[in-house]
Amino acid sequence: MDMDKLVSLCKRRGFVFQSSEIYGGLNGFWDYGPLGVELKRNVKEAWWKDNVTGHDDLAPPVGAPSIFEMVGLDSSIIMHPQVWKCSGHYDLFHDFMVDCRESKKRYRYDQVKGRWVEAKGQTVFIAVYSDSDQPEKEAEQKVLKFFDMRGKQADELKWQGEMTTLPTVQDMSKVLGPDAKTLGTLTPPREFNLMFKTIVGALGSDEDAAFLRPETAQGIFVNFKNVLDSTRVKIPFGIAQVGKSFRNEITPRNFTFRSREFEQMEIEFFCHPNTSPDWYHYWRDRRYKWYTDLGLAGDRLRLRDHTPDELSHYSCGTADIEYAFPFLPAGEYGELEGIAHRGDFDLRSHSEGKLARQGNELVVEAGPDGKPRHKGSGKDLRYFDEQTRERYLPHVIEPSAGADRATLAFLCEAYQEDTVPDENGKPSERLVLKLHPRLAPFKAAVFPLVKKEGMPEIAEKLYRELKARFPVFYDDKGAVGRRYRRQDEAGTPYCLTIDGQTLQDQTVTLRDRDTLKQERVPMKEVGELIATKVR
Ligand code: ATP
Repeated sequence: MDMDKLVSLCKRRGFVFQSSEIYGGLNGFWDYGPLGVELKRNVKEAWWKDNVTGHDDLAPPVGAPSIFEMVGLDSSIIMHPQVWKCSGHYDLFHDFMVDCRESKKRYRYDQVKGRWVEAKGQTVFIAVYSDSDQPEKEAEQKVLKFFDMRGKQADELKWQGEMTTLPTVQDMSKVLGPDAKTLGTLTPPREFNLMFKTIVGALGSDEDAAFLRPETAQGIFVNFKNVLDSTRVKIPFGIAQVGKSFRNEITPRNFTFRSREFEQMEIEFFCHPNTSPDWYHYWRDRRYKWYTDLGLAGDRLRLRDHTPDELSHYSCGTADIEYAFPFLPAGEYGELEGIAHRGDFDLRSHSEGKLARQGNELVVEAGPDGKPRHKGSGKDLRYFDEQTRERYLPHVIEPSAGADRATLAFLCEAYQEDTVPDENGKPSERLVLKLHPRLAPFKAAVFPLVKKEGMPEIAEKLYRELKARFPVFYDDKGAVGRRYRRQDEAGTPYCLTIDGQTLQDQTVTLRDRDTLKQERVPMKEVGELIATKVR
C-alpha cells in the first residue's frame, strides 16, 4: 500500500489534518477531523470496554491465572516535578541527536544508518536516515553524486561491510550526512531530554518548572494508594488510564506514528511477585489478541520478545506488539504497544527515591552528599494481604499502547483498492476502508433511492431510529452508486436503501461493504441486525 495515498485520503475525507495547517503546520502535531475523531474514539472505547467496563471481576478470562479486578483513572497531565525525578525520566529520558551544519537538519543519532565505501582513493561513510525505503539504493546514488561518477561506474565502488548505524562510527569527519553534500557536517551526538518543560504559576522562576507528562503510567503509580484506600480492590488488580502524553521527539515523522503530542492507553497491573511471570505472559498474549480480533491479522502484525540486552534496567521481561507499517523498509516493524514486567521498580522509586542498578540489585541512587539523589515520597506503598497477613510491594505488569499508532495501523490495514461492478455492471475501481465494524466511524448509512414518492420520509424515520442506537449517516445526494463509494471511503460497513419495494413490503436493501452482497431485510429488524454486528 502506498502511504501517500492513505495520507491523502485522510486529509480529503477528514480523518487527519496537519495541526495549524493554515499557518504552515507544526511538525509533530496532528488534528483528527470529523471522521478521524470517531475512529480514534472507537479505538479508545473498544480498549476501555474490553479492559475496564466490560471486564468480568467474578470469573477468570480465558488464559488468566486467576480472577482479577480492573478499575480506571484519569490523572492530571502536569504533576509534581518530583514524580519525574523519581521515575527516572528527569535524568534518563533522553535521546541523542546530531545536527547537520550544512542542511540544518537534526537527526536521532541511533536512527542514522550508513555504509562505508571506497572510491577514487578515499573512504567515506555514506549516511541515510532510517526511514529510507531503499537505504542501499539511496546510499549508492549519494556516493555516485558525491564522487561525481555515473551510474554505470557503480561497480567501481568498493563497499566495505554491510549497512550499520552511525554510533559505530568513530571519525565523524568521514561521514556524509543524510542531506549533506560535503563531508563532516554532522555534529557529535548531544543529549536531549524529551520532556516538554512548562512553568506553573505567575512568578515563572525555574523553581516553578514542571513537565507535561511523557507517559500516563506515572499518574497511576502515584495514585496506587488512593485507589486502594478508596475502593475495595484486592490484588491482583489493574488500573487503566487513557490520555494525552507529550514527548519533544527530535525527528517526528511517518505521519502520526511519531508525534510530539499523542494519546496512550496504559494498564498497570498489580500482582504478587510469585505470580508475576504468569501474569506477564497472560497480558502479553491477551493484548496481542486484541489487535487480531479488531482486524490486524496476518503477517503484518507480530509479537516480539525483547532480547536480554534490550531490557530496561528494571524489567524482567518485555515484549512488543509491532506492525509492518507501509512507510517502513521491507522487513521492518514499528511498535504499537509494549508489555513490560516492571517488578516493583515504580512503587519502590516513588516510596524510597530514584533507583539505580548496582550489580543485580536496585538501590536508591545517592547524590554527591550521600543522600538520595531524588528523594521519594516516603509513603509506605506496600500492600497488606488480610488473608495471609503478608505485607509486600506488588510487582507490576504494564501493557502500554498508543491510541494514535493503533488508529494508524487499523487505517493502513483497512485501506484497499479493488474493482467492483458499478450500477451498469461495468467494472470500476473503488477505494475502500475495510475497518472492523466496531471501529468504523459510522455503522450504517441510510439512503432514500429518490427524493420523492414518500421515500425520504421513511428514510428519515429509519435514520432517527437507528441514530438512537449507533452513529448513522444520511445521504440523499447523487446516484446510489456514488453514495456507496463515499461510504466505502469512510469505512461504513452497511448501507440501507429505501426504494419502491419498501413502500410495498416495508423491507430495505442492506448492502455489505466487504462482500458487496445486497439483501432485503424487514425494516423493523435492521437496527438489531446491525447492532449485533457492531458491538
Ligand atoms: P519508540 O521506541 O517508538 O519511541 P517507546 O518504546 O519509547 O516508542 P513507550 O515509551 O513504550 O514507547 O510508549 C508506549 C506506547 O506509546 C508506544 O508503544 C506507542 O504506541 C506510543 N508512543 C510512544 N511514543 C509515541 C510518539 N512519539 N507518537 C505516537 N505514539 C507514541
